[in-house]
Amino acid sequence: MRSWLVNAFACVITVMALHPAVAKDTTARVNTIRCSSCNDWNRPQVPFRVYGNTYYVGVHGLSAVLIATSKGLILLDGGLPQSIPLIEANIRKLGFQVKDIRLILNSHAHFDHAGGIAGLQRDSGAVVIASTLGAQALRNGQLGQEDPQYNPSEKSGFPKVPQVRGVQDGEKVNLGDVSVTAYLTPGHTPGSTTWAWQSCEKKRCLSIVYADSLNPVSAEGFRFTGGSRHPDISSQFQQSIDRVSNLPCDILLSVHPDFSDVFEKLERRQKGSAVNPFIDPQGCRTYASTANRRLQERLSLEQVKTGK
Ligand SMILES: [Zn+2]
Repeated sequence: MRSWLVNAFACVITVMALHPAVAKDTTARVNTIRCSSCNDWNRPQVPFRVYGNTYYVGVHGLSAVLIATSKGLILLDGGLPQSIPLIEANIRKLGFQVKDIRLILNSHAHFDHAGGIAGLQRDSGAVVIASTLGAQALRNGQLGQEDPQYNPSEKSGFPKVPQVRGVQDGEKVNLGDVSVTAYLTPGHTPGSTTWAWQSCEKKRCLSIVYADSLNPVSAEGFRFTGGSRHPDISSQFQQSIDRVSNLPCDILLSVHPDFSDVFEKLERRQKGSAVNPFIDPQGCRTYASTANRRLQERLSLEQVKTGK
């Protein structure tokens, strides 16, 4: 019973978050997306170094990660449109320049991670890169019909990104001395991508994973086990979870920072922890096992509903 209630509640939250209204903010000259969680997500966050040349430059509830290479900057994700001035200010606070962003990589094409990308591309001239399916959604500025959260009666759009390069599974994106690998992890969206690279400190190089969401949330009526309008994607989703679990992973970052306890780790470091709390070789496995539990709960609910 409780899980039904929790599920129903989560659905309401999801649906509310998915009905964003876009309004023109004339003072900041950016489109503002309004949703039930948007103000909370978009709280300012002081930027910080995670490890080596990898920095957190996002807002408090939506990650944006910066990698400083020998030939310019790589930015992962762009938050909401109204996150743009905060992300850009964070980049400058760390001593970098927005015009030096060469590449912007996207985890998945939802308004809360891709909403700021068009503006960040405009301000920096960077090349935007996403999975082939993610690139399509970015160009359209809205979810594809195969997206679990697609709702034909609601627009959950974001500013269109005119120029996007699509990458395949396993493709490496290189800039200067950094190589970032795209791992397709479909489930939360069809184009979901987890990105991984190495960062070094004093010749100690660690594997960093920027994991996409593995949350099985959807619009009303969608079934991960398949329905009249869409195929069964449950085993594909399971493979994505297994894949993240098995990646070389010394440091886990995630599209919402609380999915990987980023601020608890930051606090431990600020309290003078002798070892870098972001280093956690179990991080990806723990993240994947939570996702696995959620997926199994969701799949059993779908079976209960259809009386299987
Ligand atoms: Zn999402």
